[in-house]
Amino acid sequence: MSDSAVSVASVLSSLGIADSVLSGAWAGPALDGASDDVVESINPGDGSVLGRVRLATPEQYEAVVSRAQAQFERWRTIPAPKRGEIVRQMAEKFREHKAALGALVSLEVGKIASEGAGEVQETIDIADFAVGLSRQLYGLSMHSERPGHRMYEQWHPLGLVSVITAFNFPNAVWAWNAMLACVCGDGVVWKPSLKAPLVAIATHRICEDVLAAHGFSGLFGLVIGRDAAVGERMIRDARFPLVSATGSTRMGRHVGAVVAERFGRSLLELGGNNAIIVTPDADLGLALRGIAFGAVGTAGQRCTSTRRIYLHESIAAAFTERLVKAYGQVRIGHPLEAGTLMGPLIDDDAVRMYSEAITTAVSQGGRVLCGGKRIERAGSYVEPTIIAMDSDLPIVQHETFAPILYVGTYTDLSDAIRRQNDVPQGLSSSIFTTNFQSAEQFLGSAGSDCGIANVNIGTSGAEIGGAFGGEKETGGGREAGSDSWKAYMRRQTCTLNYSKELPLAQGVNFDF
Ligand code: NAD
Repeated sequence: MSDSAVSVASVLSSLGIADSVLSGAWAGPALDGASDDVVESINPGDGSVLGRVRLATPEQYEAVVSRAQAQFERWRTIPAPKRGEIVRQMAEKFREHKAALGALVSLEVGKIASEGAGEVQETIDIADFAVGLSRQLYGLSMHSERPGHRMYEQWHPLGLVSVITAFNFPNAVWAWNAMLACVCGDGVVWKPSLKAPLVAIATHRICEDVLAAHGFSGLFGLVIGRDAAVGERMIRDARFPLVSATGSTRMGRHVGAVVAERFGRSLLELGGNNAIIVTPDADLGLALRGIAFGAVGTAGQRCTSTRRIYLHESIAAAFTERLVKAYGQVRIGHPLEAGTLMGPLIDDDAVRMYSEAITTAVSQGGRVLCGGKRIERAGSYVEPTIIAMDSDLPIVQHETFAPILYVGTYTDLSDAIRRQNDVPQGLSSSIFTTNFQSAEQFLGSAGSDCGIANVNIGTSGAEIGGAFGGEKETGGGREAGSDSWKAYMRRQTCTLNYSKELPLAQGVNFDF
């Protein structure tokens, strides 16, 4: 792939990260390090090495956090709309670098070109959203029960926020947190996945340039390090009143417990296990496209990827046949090649988990209708897979981060909704229907139990304007739009007495 090699070099140099070994610790600028622990960033599209990063040491971690803390203490006094202006400038920088950063997302985690660029667009969108928000961090005012008193609430910056991110959204998930935290007056220290260190460094540098120009170098810190050396230190560190962690349920169960132990707050965005129900009256063309994008897009490596579908028995056979045919037309290839619809999995471990899940599903009675195999070429490619099941298999309780779709049929909509809900996770869900009653039943209080419920839209591809997150083992966190900003601030209730008396609340007397 000589063309791709040329573009890798130009992508890295245009983002200023072409050094042979990059630092994994950034207290604003990079810190020089003594660590011998170097991680390689591997392109899952062809197995080539994109770059090398020297991992952060505990001492460097300390330097990054101290710097962010010192800058936070000044940042919190800057008026929120002025903070918004600085975030606006970050959004401009992301616009300038969108093509290169999007290509780097594709190279480092295997997303197809439009999805790599789409991820950076999401960062631009949340930054724009945060700019508007910087003038709307509203508190309520309440009527005091005491004469001559005024009562209201105000929202103050919370402190330092630690952001732990998963490999599959190496740019946007950080931005969902950091752009809001920044206008809220917080500092941010980021610990990205070791599978996507270059996107993190490039993203950090873009924002650092803007912050440095305003005297706030290091308000955003970056530590790329091992979970044992850096991750554990971070989640136990009381300088972080909020830990926002995105990743597997296994990780979130541990992080949530550790942070709760020190009375910190955690914002958990964990695994999904998302289903789509298709009713007999549905627009089947729409359903087909929504399911194919949800299950095959990003090679099934979105938290919102479609893992299960429940088809009404009257349409199941013909619809499944159409779906299998559509899968046959999915062009699989290098993410940056024109026309590719599905790129690779992140690495060979992910391929192994894909193969193991299929073997388990078959042993439990699942029938492979298409796919099921690794594709023999350089990189970590697999076939998108459809597995039919007569009744729900035990394996559908688990999230396998790969393009495997389980197909079940149903007779009664209540039963389909019950089966959709009958998994430990609760992130995204959809129904394809033209029947008003079915849609309302799905959205009603006895309907979908997920944080996201869609009608005639697939499970993946949320907009930043809504609050994003899920229930149950998905962790309960909400990020991005609506009032998610409140997680990054502390609420203060203030009561002012402008009378000459001191009346007590609830009519209590304490005269002496
Ligand atoms: P992962 O759990 O392996 O890792 C996620 C992050 O947690 C990494 O940065 C990792 O280094 C860190 N981590 C792990 N143990 C830690 C510890 N002890 N202390 C501190 N940090 C620690 O997940 P992954 O494989 O990178 O990503 C895939 C998972 O993420 C899937 O389950 C997917 O559903 C989930 N995800 C969820 C959302 C969401 O918004 N709900 C979004 C994207 C991905």
